[in-house]
Amino acid sequence: MSANSTIEWTDATWNPIRGCTKVSPGCKHCYAQTFAERFRGVPGHPYEQGFDLRLAPEKLLDPFKWKSPKKVFVNSMSDLFQTRVSAGYIREVVSVMVEADWHVYQVLTKRSERMRAMLADDLQFAGAKENIWWGVSVEDKKHGLSRIEDLRSSSAKVKFLSIEPLLEDLGEIDLSGIHWVIVGGESGPGARALDPSWVKRILRQCRRYNVPFF
Ligand code: SF4
Repeated sequence: MSANSTIEWTDATWNPIRGCTKVSPGCKHCYAQTFAERFRGVPGHPYEQGFDLRLAPEKLLDPFKWKSPKKVFVNSMSDLFQTRVSAGYIREVVSVMVEADWHVYQVLTKRSERMRAMLADDLQFAGAKENIWWGVSVEDKKHGLSRIEDLRSSSAKVKFLSIEPLLEDLGEIDLSGIHWVIVGGESGPGARALDPSWVKRILRQCRRYNVPFF
């Protein structure tokens, strides 16, 4: 667990899973992959295996060590709902969030179908917890809008969108049932340009739906 995060909308990161595979255009310049691959082959480094998927059960209990409440971004270096992560392990991760309930957990995924399915099944015990915020990434219409629908139709009590990196004008989006929206562009080498008018359009819609905008 990292006690301090440079991500503006969270306090800390917790990575009981490391590594991932790309699923959509928003992954093109994945910062987690760039970071992890820098350490591939470095003996003893947490990312010795680069961005290959690896479970880190030795990190599972880290939230219990933090006594003061924090906002915790879960798996900033991965995606909890990858198909190669077993339902049993996901259940273990989520059980920690339920028990160490003095923190707020921000779970963000691009695998929204599996998240919705698991919230209706193995994770039924956690969906209604107010200290767990369930979110989906939205980068464009083609991939992002169906993720919003998956999230909205799930049993999650607290729902948020990370519209980042925003790659096009999303048009009119349905924000009913959404509790928080984060919007951002891409940074780093080869970053794809963002048109401020796309952001303003989302901001206007957030105001209309009375949804906090970050
Ligand atoms: S889903 Fe997230 S962590 Fe996985 S490759 Fe895409 S951007 Fe990176």
